[in-house]
Amino acid sequence: MTLIDRAAGPTDDMPVPFLDLRAVHARTRPSLDDAWGAVLAHGQYVGGPEVARFEAEFAAYCGARHAVGVGNGTDALELIVRGLGIGPGDEVVVPANTFVATAEGVCAAGATPRFVDVDPDTLLLDPDAAAAAIGPSTAAIIAVHLFGAVAPMEPLAALAARHGLALVEDAAQAHGARYDGRRAGSLGRAAAFSFYPGKNLGALGDGGAVVTDDGDLAERVRGLADHGRRRGDRDHHDRVGRNSRLDTLQAALLSVRLGSLDAENAARRHVLAHYRERLPASCRPVDVDPRVEPVVHLAVVRIPDRPALIAALTAAGIGWGVHYRVPCHLQPAFAGSTGAPPRLPVAEEAAGRILSLPCSPTLGEDRVERVCDVVRSVS
Ligand SMILES: *Cc1c(COP(=O)(O)O)cnc(C)c1O
Repeated sequence: MTLIDRAAGPTDDMPVPFLDLRAVHARTRPSLDDAWGAVLAHGQYVGGPEVARFEAEFAAYCGARHAVGVGNGTDALELIVRGLGIGPGDEVVVPANTFVATAEGVCAAGATPRFVDVDPDTLLLDPDAAAAAIGPSTAAIIAVHLFGAVAPMEPLAALAARHGLALVEDAAQAHGARYDGRRAGSLGRAAAFSFYPGKNLGALGDGGAVVTDDGDLAERVRGLADHGRRRGDRDHHDRVGRNSRLDTLQAALLSVRLGSLDAENAARRHVLAHYRERLPASCRPVDVDPRVEPVVHLAVVRIPDRPALIAALTAAGIGWGVHYRVPCHLQPAFAGSTGAPPRLPVAEEAAGRILSLPCSPTLGEDRVERVCDVVRSVS
């Protein structure tokens, strides 16, 4: 960038954060203050009325019958697996390209993740690879809706039905995304959501939810997440459970945040559309299945020379990320869980070329254009 370019306008020197949560929350500050004030005043910091209210609102938003608030998205995954009666000796099919939490939830329940490759265009779970991994110990498939898209649920549901397996959604990156018009969270046996601050629906701390149409499963998850208690009975613990509840305060804040989710998702889609139109041919956003209306949790592109682009973005004060640099099957944490790591060439190749560009809902076109300028300068 030349000195003349730098003088062109006030936005040129402004850094472009990867995700600007303070700017997001500034827009609803008075409502967040009110929600916090109400919880502070009534004093039921665990299990207060805001939890049941948010659970009902979020279940309705997803088009499902039940939502159970839990401590975080990783716990939501573990509690679903345990709630389905899956544990030691069972295998769960998991895509190699996901955040490690998907596999951690399986391991925490005592089951074994079986990593499989992803589709080369969408980088989401490949139904043929999933089919090839099914064996006598397979109990479930976890479809991960990565980057704000939705995994190919129709072929995966057919596969799961054919083999009598549970199809679980990891929807931690897909609040509000749709597949054939239906929302993530209503597409499988149960779905795990995370409300980590940086997710599309983020709390101001940790939080998560299990969403399902299955009332018995919802009750089992609720009991497991509350020390194995019987519902409405503080004295009897039927199972050894966990303490993994959604805080009242986070639930109150999440109700406020849910009110802006659709508008923020639309803004994220707008950012991605701009990238698709303006980025050079050497820097292509990852494809989205036409059956999917994504919510663009991450604007992931594939590029030939990642180090050069990272250097240019960093020099220009533009935030970036890599999701994920090491596929799960190559993580030391999971070495030995299923013997030698399989070769999963699509996930391995993609891990070396992907880069996530800023897609904050508050970004604005001038900043998106600035990111495109920097990408073009190294292409
Ligand atoms: C964030 C995330 C999780 C875990 O959620 P936490 O609330 O951080 O425990 C699980 N799966 C995916 C795909 C995620 O992005």
